[in-house]
Amino acid sequence: MPDYVIAPPAIAAVPVEGGGLFPVRRIFCVGRNYAEHAREMGADPDREPPFFFAKPADALLTGDADMPYPPMSNSLHHEMELVVAIGTGGADIAEADALGHVWGYTVGLDMTRRDLQNAAKKEGKPWDMGKGFDHSAPIGTLIPAAKFPDPTKGRIALTVNGAIRQESDLSKLIWSVAETIAYLSRLVRLAPGDLIYTGTPEGVAAVVRGDVLEGMVEGVGRIRTKIV
Ligand code: MN
Repeated sequence: MPDYVIAPPAIAAVPVEGGGLFPVRRIFCVGRNYAEHAREMGADPDREPPFFFAKPADALLTGDADMPYPPMSNSLHHEMELVVAIGTGGADIAEADALGHVWGYTVGLDMTRRDLQNAAKKEGKPWDMGKGFDHSAPIGTLIPAAKFPDPTKGRIALTVNGAIRQESDLSKLIWSVAETIAYLSRLVRLAPGDLIYTGTPEGVAAVVRGDVLEGMVEGVGRIRTKIV
């Protein structure tokens, strides 16, 4: 045991279907990866290179736990996303090899303090406090990659209090899962335990305390959280 001067932090982890935990190292997120969402955010969805931001691993919220409404915001938005869990690391991963680095898949919510993010965008400041706050990454149960062999299609949807808010298909990802892994691995060496939130389709909107969010990706799973 190293001579830590304070107790080391707990390892963040995602529950795995059938038992066990997937330990999490880093959380990467893709920005504007569906054309209609890029348009609703006032951006041009042309196929510019993908861009990434990150959340701290301890932002994860598991087990369909309630999500506390975050401080310093009056505009908490939902972003329903497919999440990829990296099992085998690497740099400069070829697109053709990329899916072989995936341990599994799950669903997640990239919860966003949109007011803080928009203010940061306007001033050319970092997005971190709009995106990477406490409990900002509700996440579902992980399934092994073999159970979802083709991440290029599948319905993705989110309801709030039973009403549909987001609905699209993974086939509309601007950058596919394989392309995203390949590109990100050129920027950083991916490592086992890394998660990638792959971007959200159109329909993002604000939620308030008491709202119940229920999301799904066909063939992957479901997630539920109540804002409290
Ligand atoms: Mn997102």
